[in-house]
Amino acid sequence: MAQWQNIVGKPVDAAGFDDHVRQLCDWKWQPQFITLHNSAIPSLSQRPDGFTAQHIANLASYYQRLGWRAGPHLFIDDRQIWLFSPLTSPGRHSPSWNRVAVGVEMLGDYAREDFTSGRGAKVRALTISALTTLSRRLGLRADSLRLHKEDPATSHDCPGKNVDKAAIIADVARAMAI
Ligand SMILES: [Zn+2]
Repeated sequence: MAQWQNIVGKPVDAAGFDDHVRQLCDWKWQPQFITLHNSAIPSLSQRPDGFTAQHIANLASYYQRLGWRAGPHLFIDDRQIWLFSPLTSPGRHSPSWNRVAVGVEMLGDYAREDFTSGRGAKVRALTISALTTLSRRLGLRADSLRLHKEDPATSHDCPGKNVDKAAIIADVARAMAI
């Protein structure tokens, strides 16, 4: 429970996320890669204005009710990056990889919703910038990225098929080279 008092629950833009990550110190773990998720429920259409502070607080109580001491590190919608579980400690989002992977949750159901146009493209662009910032800070290669559904211990088809892993890796690699 105590760990939930540390929930960040704060929205930042891409530059604000870069500042936040730059200032982090006292890391209690060494992440080896980033795992990407989509929320599925809620979908983009269920959250026409993205996440609100209340939605984020509700997510925190939801995980708490499950008895989880942490959740994903970030929730990303089409407007902002929500800091959730502190990046300096392991989160909980993917059964095999919680101890080794940063968890990034994107708003949307990309089995059905578009990821390369409209609001989905905005989520994608913010996600690329967040992955770039994290990969630089943690010394990760862009191609170390894994999708939740690649975890052999999960049955979730997450994120949906419209999330093209190779295209994301290419965009992050390009951004990291700048
Ligand atoms: Zn997932």
